Amino acid sequence: MEARLEEHLDRFGLALVNDKHKYRKVVAKKVIKKGTTVITSRPLCNPIIFPTHRSKHCETCFRAKGSTSHGGQAHDLERCSVCKKRYYCNRECFTTAWKGWHRWICPDKDMENLDYEMLKMVVIAIERLRNGSSSPSLTTSASGTSGTHIGDDLHQEVEPLELTEYVFSTLMGHEAVSDHAQLSKYREIATSVRDQLVKSKYPFKSPLSAGAPPSVQELVQYLCRFHCNNFSIHDTQLFTMAEGTFPIGALFNHSCRPNAIVMYEGQMQIVRALEDIVPGQEVCTSYVDNGVQRKERRALLAEKYYFHCMCPRCEQEEEPVDAVDQDQSQEASSPPQESAKPKWTGFRILDDLIEGEQDGPKDGKIDGEWLTRQFEPIVLPNARSLHTAGPEIQPPGLITRASFTSYLVHSIVPLIQTGVSEALYQERLFRIYRELQMTPHASPKPFTTTVMTNATSFFNTCLEHGSWALASKIGMFVLAQYLMIYPRHHPLVGLHCFTLAKSLWNDVEGGLSSVRLSHEVLLLAKRILVVSHGTKGQNGGLVEEVVQFLKTVETELG
Ligand SMILES: [Zn+2]
Ligand SMILES: [Zn+2]
Ligand SMILES: [Zn+2]
Repeated sequence: MEARLEEHLDRFGLALVNDKHKYRKVVAKKVIKKGTTVITSRPLCNPIIFPTHRSKHCETCFRAKGSTSHGGQAHDLERCSVCKKRYYCNRECFTTAWKGWHRWICPDKDMENLDYEMLKMVVIAIERLRNGSSSPSLTTSASGTSGTHIGDDLHQEVEPLELTEYVFSTLMGHEAVSDHAQLSKYREIATSVRDQLVKSKYPFKSPLSAGAPPSVQELVQYLCRFHCNNFSIHDTQLFTMAEGTFPIGALFNHSCRPNAIVMYEGQMQIVRALEDIVPGQEVCTSYVDNGVQRKERRALLAEKYYFHCMCPRCEQEEEPVDAVDQDQSQEASSPPQESAKPKWTGFRILDDLIEGEQDGPKDGKIDGEWLTRQFEPIVLPNARSLHTAGPEIQPPGLITRASFTSYLVHSIVPLIQTGVSEALYQERLFRIYRELQMTPHASPKPFTTTVMTNATSFFNTCLEHGSWALASKIGMFVLAQYLMIYPRHHPLVGLHCFTLAKSLWNDVEGGLSSVRLSHEVLLLAKRILVVSHGTKGQNGGLVEEVVQFLKTVETELG
């Protein structure tokens, strides 16, 4: 099986190599272009839709209620008449689910526990595989993604289910270091799943199982593996809606500055490259939001995944900056070397910049008036064209929210639009971080993550109230922060650009300059979303929306 995994990864230009710190890692064997699929991963069993999202998605194909992909007609969902908890597109999706797994879950209508459900379904999936009768709901042809492209270039076959199961069996569960209270909770769940399977007379026919479900101890191991390997599944807009076990996807290690991202197409997981990845380079996704502060990231990673992050953004944070930043441009252009001593990358400054709690006015009252003042001399009126490279932008004398916004957006957007290499992009980004660090700034510090969180929530409030002028200003500020923190083609940045462009478009007060800026931001959205979402399938539908909107704006501009 190990050889089959190697062969499978090789087909995608990847290799799994041992690593003394990280157990193992996935490394590129060829150039992987940004915006292409690194690999796809199938779920070990049907992913579980969160109870709050059940009425909005079909359990079998994950299609959203109201979507038009079923023969062009917006479709409604029907509820299982027995448990009254699961929803399906139609008879076909229901039958697939019923035969596959739902009849074993349906009677547990009083159980509202994701771990319980996932465990039961994984046991069934593995047993079926062992006795040669894999569940139809586990094949992509029945899961509704058949015929759709999963990613631009994606026609590669999905891994065989035996491989999914094998990779699952190799995943780390960290049982030895798990919390006692958690383990005893897991034992309880394992015992109840086992009892239930026995009671419902689930047929354990495979020679390996010898007529009985796996032992409680084995089930606890599964639960530990879920804990540190399962994924939250999100929709095109990045709203989480379900949870699933995707063993191949779980092979990728974490980085707080990832070069790949996890997306979903129906029930399939797709790992997409956010930047050009060169041979020898490790492919990493991110397990936590890159927009949170170092301390919080550390705590999350330690608690859920049991490791101390040594990614380029976190490693060497104890080393003094001045002693190690000599050699940057050379480092940026030289290929990564396996054994070379890691050099300081400049991302460390980022974490210094975004650290801090203070935000808001001195008297503590945040209202529309205060906000308007904060964002007053906004970029809009004298915005330069954002998508062509101009002369280098000089940092402002004093950094306020408004001058920060203008400086960041004008410095970074042209680099994205002109598609400079990752090495050059990082070099320029580090210089910007340095400038931000050295320039005096208004108090409180205008670019901490606390400020960003507040600004994001104000942005949403303004959108809800149709306060387009204010939303546009705050939205520009949020964009500047995202550009500072996230990888340039991160889906969150693209999605924010799209929303911001709509707000600018609606801002009648802003007149023609708002329409022009809306156009600039839309071009940026398109550039980013083509990489993060691709142009095919459900995710590609978003790029299509951006293109349609661009046409409308261009008509207005003439
Ligand atoms: Zn369906
Ligand atoms: Zn049911
Ligand atoms: Zn890190």
